[in-house]
Amino acid sequence: MAKTGENRGNLHESTVAVHAGEFVDPTTRASSPNLVMSATFAPTGVTGFSARDEKNYDGFVYGRVSSPTVRQLEHKLAALEGAEAALAFGSGVAASHAVIAGRLSKGDHLLMPDSNYVGIAELTRDTLPRFGIETSFVDTLSPQAVAAGIRPNTRMLWLETPTNPTMQISDIKTLATLAHEKGVRDVVVDSTYATPLATKPLSLGADFVVHSLTKYIGGHGDAMGGTLIGRKVDLDAINLESMVHFGGVLSPFNAWLIMRGAATLPLRMKAHQEAAMKLATFLEGHPAIKRVFYPGLASHPQHSLAKTQMKNFSGMLTFQTYENGMAVAKRMVEQLEIIHYAVSLGHLRSLIYWIGTDDIERSTYRHGPEAALRFRDYMGDGVFRLSVGIEDGDDLWADLVRCF
Ligand SMILES: *Cc1c(COP(=O)(O)O)cnc(C)c1O
Repeated sequence: MAKTGENRGNLHESTVAVHAGEFVDPTTRASSPNLVMSATFAPTGVTGFSARDEKNYDGFVYGRVSSPTVRQLEHKLAALEGAEAALAFGSGVAASHAVIAGRLSKGDHLLMPDSNYVGIAELTRDTLPRFGIETSFVDTLSPQAVAAGIRPNTRMLWLETPTNPTMQISDIKTLATLAHEKGVRDVVVDSTYATPLATKPLSLGADFVVHSLTKYIGGHGDAMGGTLIGRKVDLDAINLESMVHFGGVLSPFNAWLIMRGAATLPLRMKAHQEAAMKLATFLEGHPAIKRVFYPGLASHPQHSLAKTQMKNFSGMLTFQTYENGMAVAKRMVEQLEIIHYAVSLGHLRSLIYWIGTDDIERSTYRHGPEAALRFRDYMGDGVFRLSVGIEDGDDLWADLVRCF
């Protein structure tokens, strides 16, 4: 049986993306991955009843613990990230919650960026305190601020780079080293925007990587999923607790779709980057545009860090208009023909959405005065978050420029 992609460290990324986790099915000889939807599996002998009894059992028992198609995807994800293991969840937020709830207990302190993906920002601000997990928020662009934010009970440092929606790039290597030296056990990186093609946070010192599979890795906007990637020993423990008890499992059907998407990730990321670079450059030269943030532009405040930390600048960019953003957004809803005015990102098709600074401050971040000023420096009164798809850059520009 040909089992490719695993234990073959010398293969290139495009080969790994296609073959890792995939194999010729031994019973049917199917060449492409079979979808196994079964929720339960008939063991060949008598086993225990609790998932804890399955620890040393290699087969499948019940879909909430593990299942064949999901496991194939997990192997592909671990290989793409150059990691020992991966676990797949029903969404990116489920994966994030699994590592937070699986690793932290009452009385532990979690150090978060003061702006990051809204779902996680709200989870950590509004929900975790109810469970006795202390959280505080710092500017992760500043190693000094991170160092000052670490407390004796800080067990986890959360990073997101580039950040949704500010496009800020944090220095994973510097911050992971600093945190570990100060006794922080876990450094987690939400690498959804970067993808494994651009950045490998584990090789820079992180302990866990989180991706929303709904975004670039799935890539087609038709399946939600999330993954947590890291050391096997850590993920086995999280599987037995967070996965089995919180139950945020990924449907095998979604795993199958995401696996199919992941196979073309290297090709797609090249196309995303090419079109995004073109649009970022056109936007920067247009008189209606006040500011553009794209890691590939020399004008990005962390461009030199981006060059060392990102092998691909990805397809995400934000921009500000001189005209009131709400008015421009209204024209986009009415006039755009190719780009969809919609949330989410990392899909084949381009997506754009207006994010107002006052709105997001009120709903989510509720920054203090100093952090609010810093946030506004990146956001202005608000930004358009543009997820550049894999369409032709000139066609996208012609669609967009009519709205300015
Ligand atoms: C979308 C997103 C998430 C959440 O993922 P879901 O699959 O929507 O749950 C987390 N982090 C970032 C950076 C995201 O863009």
